[in-house]
Formats: sequence, C-alpha cells, structure tokens
Amino acid sequence: MTPCFVRVALDHPLTALYDYRYPLEAPPPQPGMLVRVPFGRREAVGLIFEVSTHSDVPANKLREVDAVCASCPPLSEQWLALVGFAADYYQRGLGEVALPALPQALRDPSRWARLLAPEERYRVLPAGREALPEALPARAQVLRRLAQALLDANELDLVDARALHPKAAASLESWREAGWVEYESVDFGAAQSAASGGAKNTGSAAESPPLHQLSDEQTEAVEAILESRGFAPFLLHGVTGSGKTEVYLRALAGLLEREPDAQALVLVPEINLTPQFEAAFRTRFAGVLPDDAIVTLHSGLAEGERARHWLAAHTGRARIVLGTRLAVMASLPRLAMLVVDEEHDPAYKQQEGLRYSARDLAVWRAKQLEVPVVLGSATPSLESWWHAEQGRYTRLTLSRRAVAAAVLPSVKLIDLEEERRRGRASFEGLSGPLIAAMKARLERGEQSLIFLNRRGYAPVLSCDACGWVAGCPRCSAYVVLHKPERALRCHHCGWEARIPHSCPDCGNVDIAPMGRGTQRIEEALASAVPGARVLRIDADSTRRKGSAQALFSDVHAGEVDILVGTQMVAKGHDFQRVSLVGVMNADNALFSHDFRASERLFAQLMQVSGRAGRAGLPGEVMVQTRYPRHAIYHALARHDYVGFANSQLAERRDAHLPPFVYQALLRAEGRTLEAALAFLAEAAQALAAMPTASRVMAYDAVPLTIVKVMNVHRAQLLVESSSRAALQATLRAWLPTLRGLRGVLRWNLEVDPLDI
Ligand code: ADP
Ligand code: ZN
Ligand code: ZN
Repeated sequence: MTPCFVRVALDHPLTALYDYRYPLEAPPPQPGMLVRVPFGRREAVGLIFEVSTHSDVPANKLREVDAVCASCPPLSEQWLALVGFAADYYQRGLGEVALPALPQALRDPSRWARLLAPEERYRVLPAGREALPEALPARAQVLRRLAQALLDANELDLVDARALHPKAAASLESWREAGWVEYESVDFGAAQSAASGGAKNTGSAAESPPLHQLSDEQTEAVEAILESRGFAPFLLHGVTGSGKTEVYLRALAGLLEREPDAQALVLVPEINLTPQFEAAFRTRFAGVLPDDAIVTLHSGLAEGERARHWLAAHTGRARIVLGTRLAVMASLPRLAMLVVDEEHDPAYKQQEGLRYSARDLAVWRAKQLEVPVVLGSATPSLESWWHAEQGRYTRLTLSRRAVAAAVLPSVKLIDLEEERRRGRASFEGLSGPLIAAMKARLERGEQSLIFLNRRGYAPVLSCDACGWVAGCPRCSAYVVLHKPERALRCHHCGWEARIPHSCPDCGNVDIAPMGRGTQRIEEALASAVPGARVLRIDADSTRRKGSAQALFSDVHAGEVDILVGTQMVAKGHDFQRVSLVGVMNADNALFSHDFRASERLFAQLMQVSGRAGRAGLPGEVMVQTRYPRHAIYHALARHDYVGFANSQLAERRDAHLPPFVYQALLRAEGRTLEAALAFLAEAAQALAAMPTASRVMAYDAVPLTIVKVMNVHRAQLLVESSSRAALQATLRAWLPTLRGLRGVLRWNLEVDPLDI
C-alpha cells in the first residue's frame, strides 16, 4: 500500500492545514471527510481538505487519523471551496470557518455511526413540559436526569436515552401513555425524491388554495429569473406588499419543474419569519414535493432537529432549505437557485466569530455554481442598489401592491414641537392625533401597530435632586428600567439589580424614569385607548422559546387591537388587519455618527410602514417627529426609495464612503482604554510600513461609543481602500503582525463592517 497522508482543517485560529497519516484500509480518504485525530493532548474533529502521497512533516512527528466518519457522504468540493473563500475573504482559518458551520452531531464522533441510521425519538409535549419536572420522586435520580435531558433538548433519541438509563424505553413509553411525550421514527436510509412518489404529504394539490393571477410585473420577474442562464444576480425591488414571496414561489416551482432534483436555498433575516414562509412554501409545494423535502435551518431548532435538517440538505433529500443567515453555509450538492429575502437587513451580517455577510456569500455561491440568485427588498441595501445601477445585477421592479385594492399607506408627519406650541393634549408621548387614529381603528375593528425601537420601560432612571443616574457598574452605559420584571437591566452585559426605592446618592425618594420604552407605551395605551387589547412584542416578551410564534398568531387571529413593539414587528410580517402604523422616537437615529444610520432608519421606517393596509384596508402611517422637514421623512412620505437611494449614493460618493470604498475594522478589547488604543496604534504603525500602504488608509483609532462593556474597554481602527484587492492583500499581510502584538485581551478583524 502506498503511504497516504491527509491535510486536515481543525477548529483552530491558525490558517495551516495539519498533516496526518491515514492508516485505514477503508474507506479511502477523500476531501470533505470528517476525521477524528489526536491534537496536542486531546482528540479533535477535523475535515480533510487534501489527500496526498507525501508529507513534508518529519515521519516521527506525524500522527495518525484515529477514525473517519464513513456514514455520511463527504462534503463536496464546492462546499470546501465556499469555506476556502469565506476563510480567505474574512481573514480566518479554514477550520475556524468549516467546523462551526457543521451541526454539532457531525462534530461528535460518538454519533457518527448513526448519523443517517433510522431514528426513533421522543419529543416533549406541552403537558409533559409542565408535568415532568414535578412527577418524579427526588430519589429517582437517573430517571430525573433522563427527564431533564428530554426537557433541555425538547426531544431525545432512543439510543441517547438508553445511554442515560438502561430502562429508558419503558419509562418513555409510560410517559407517552400519559400524554407527556410523542414518539416518532424516521428512516433516513429510505431515500425519497419527488420522482419516487409515495411520499407523505400534508395536503394534496387539490386542497391548496387557487393560485393568484400574477401581475404583469410579477410575471416579468418570474420569467426573467427562469430564463436566465448561468450566474444571474437579480435585485427584486418590490414595494412592501407587492408580492415578492409570490415571485420566489413561482420561480422555485418553475425551477423544480424543469430540474426535478434541484435544490434551492431561501434566506430570511429573522427566525420569526420562518414559520410564515414555511407555511407558504408547504402549501404551495404540497403534492409536488414530499413533506420532508422542505426543511428549515436556524438557531431556534433543537440540536437534533438541526442536524437532521442539515443532513437532509446534504444528502439531497431536502429540496428547499429555508433558513436564517447560518443556512447560507448549508451543504447543498444540487443547489440551483438562491433567494435572499429582505436582502438589506443587517441581520444577515454575523456579528461574532466569523463575521460574514450571508447575503454576500449567497451571491458568491450563485457565482460559483453559475445559478440565479434573487435578492429581494423594498429598500435594497445601497451596495446592492449600486450594483444594479451599474448593471452588475439585473433589476426587477414591482411598483404596486399585489392585492388589487391595496395601495401604499398615506404617511402623515406629526410635528411634536407644533403640537406642544399649540398646547394640544398628548399622553405619555402619544400625540393627540395618534391616539384619535387608534381609537378610530378600534371602533372599526381594525388593528394599530406602534413601533418604538427601544425595549424596557424607560431607558434611564434618575434623581432630579442630585443628578444621579442609574448606570451599569460594568459598562459605560445607563441601565434600563424594566417594570414588569421589577428590575434595572443593562442591555449590554445583562447585569441586573432591583429598582431602588430612593436615590442611592442623596436619599431622595422621588427618582423618576426618563424616556420611554415599549413597556411604558404598553402601559400608557391601556389608559389612552380604553378597551383596546394591547400586546407587546419585543425581545423581553418573547424570551421563552416558541412564545413569539404564539404572540404573532394572536395578532393574525385578530385577538389584538394594538400591537406595540420593536423592530421585531416591523419586518416582513403579512398582517392583514393592520391599517394604522404609529412611529415613535425615530428622531433618535437622525443624528448618529454611523454613516449607515440614515440608510438603516429609512429601511426600518419603510418596512414598518409597509405593515399597514396590506389586505385592502386603507393604510395610514403617523410618524411623530421634531424634525418634520428632514429629508428622510420626506422621502418616506413619498415612498420614494429611489430618490432616497440616489441622493445617499451621491453623498457617499462625495464623502468616499462604501460602496465606493472598501473597509475593514480592527477592534481591540483591553483592560484599559489606553491598552486598547496602544494596541491599535502599534497595529496602525505596522500597517503603514507595509508595501501596499499607499493604497490603504487607516483612520485614527477611536474608542467605541459605549467604550466599556463588562469591564472591558473597547476601541477600533478603521482601514479602507478604493481597491478591494489591495485591501484584501494588505489585511492578509497584516495578520501575522497582529497575532504577534500583545497587551489586549482580545481583538478581531471584520471585513465589510456594518456598524462603525
Ligand atoms: P412582499 O413580500 O412583497 O411584502 P407578500 O409576498 O407578502 O409581499 O405579498 C403580499 C400579499 O399579496 C400576500 O397576502 C399575498 O398572498 C398577496 N399576493 C401576492 N401576489 C398576488 C397576486 N398576484 N394577486 C393577489 N394577491 C397577491
Ligand atoms: Zn439623588
Ligand atoms: Zn452592563
């Protein structure tokens, strides 16, 4: 046998691949296979990138692969290339990108043997969630561990259960009889495809609702996508409610008709939007695709479920994968179309670890595979808009709302200064006209939505007598008053304290909340609009798993008259009975020093306005502002994305800002601000000494706006260039130097940063 070596990527920050001898007879090594290898004193899971007949590592230093995952097909060359690109572009190690992109089950060798084996599992039912913790006697320790494992993961595989408790099967069966858990068995081996038929379906084609008659613009869009050949990036610019989803559905249906085995990836910005999309896709493809050919991928799935869905995509069994940004790294061997809905959404940018843009990676995958990619939005990112302006993306426009009777809402600006000058009544920040409009909706049985991008009761608690303000002991930030939770909470580090009864500095008992968050508005609405059923949706009210879904269902079911919420309620939801949208406190974002703040605010306002009047009820938007003459509000009132985008682009061009330059951000975290700044100064010096220095410019290092979080001081250094290639080359050359610098706790480098 010729000696055989493999080069393996491990989840480790250094870029190099590690050489190992491959001693196994079978299976033959192949790039894309997972292996278990010794690494230092421990075992690690790695991914083979290369196979070779020689190694430059001295024989006595070479160690051997211990085990290989033979049960699931190796990752494809294309997938490895995707990882390679992402690692290179975002300046990370191959393994640091590859391994975290895989579900936990694949990174756990003890589970390899059964990855695709038939599975029997039990899932907790709501009754069980309540009853189980109480039902077991304290001394039944093993049984309690079993119950806990089940409650933690929501479901438990029979093999895992038996490992916890030899008689697990009997207990689980008795819990099933009690109505606490349900049993399910899945056979992965039984490959299914649309062609093989006989698959289980929730509905049949006959039951699904009749298809909409497409508008001319929709028809044109669908045809353009289906007629494209090779790499074809589309920017689907459709006003809110114009039926972009319908375009995706038709394009996918056309694709699957033409290529019955093809796979598609559909990305949405928020977990909370997946159920709405999933339902639409299931209904549409019932009778065309088997039930399990549509899967979701997002961080809200239980670990086992996520692994199953991922494997379904990897084996080709899943044909449509619907997910949040992490799904962009899914292995899809027959990927033939990609869709990124609400492509402008900042949530597509991962903010830790590998700081990738899922939208950008989706476009890269489309290019790699020479397939179409559809980026949809009512307010495209200026980057994508600019690509379309230059003809690099094909623009498809939906200029009207899809539902015949639905028109875009009218937008009214309520001048708060004027309201005050004229002595008009307001209540807790809710202006007279807004309150009157909500009352009118209540009478007509329509819904109102109040958008306020600030959760909690009040952002500040302060003492009038001495000027004390409740701050976080660990961060340079005020703490937010949370009334229902009776707590002061830091939104940056999670620090919590009870609300003090008096000022800790001077003893004054008249300490008062300043400013308003969603909780305070929720409270105010109860008296401002008597009789209205008010519901708040924000990160606090939806903390429990699944609760967001329940709350949104209440809205859809008409059990709510006024919905108040943060940007969670602004995005994508197809509310049928909302005819009024009220916007509070948007002014805060007008004076940010982040050059993207206006783009973001405009998109947010257009999105939330787009929730009004979707199903034919005349919609109205009321924006409360002190700056009614601000250009953003004017563009909003005219629904003028194009005018807004073009004027922003002109400003960006004059100011040499993205998309006309390329940026990267080096962030450092130190025990002191001085340490962080010193690190960045050294880094900047090293940068200036590099051969490409003339093509790359570094700004001065500055502290972050919230300089201290969790007792760590943070600062950043912005680097930019008018050439992407020059920036990339410079960053690559800079990294080894950065790794050699000391004096800070952590640092990271972000390419194409969004928050500056
Ligand atoms: P968008 O994503 O562009 O905001 P949606 O795709 O949610 O819009 O569509 C808005 C509404 O219009 C949905 O209720 C959808 O069912 C409906 N719709 C879409 N296309 C049509 C059509 N051609 N005729 C009638 N209604 C349509
Ligand atoms: Zn005081
Ligand atoms: Zn804090």
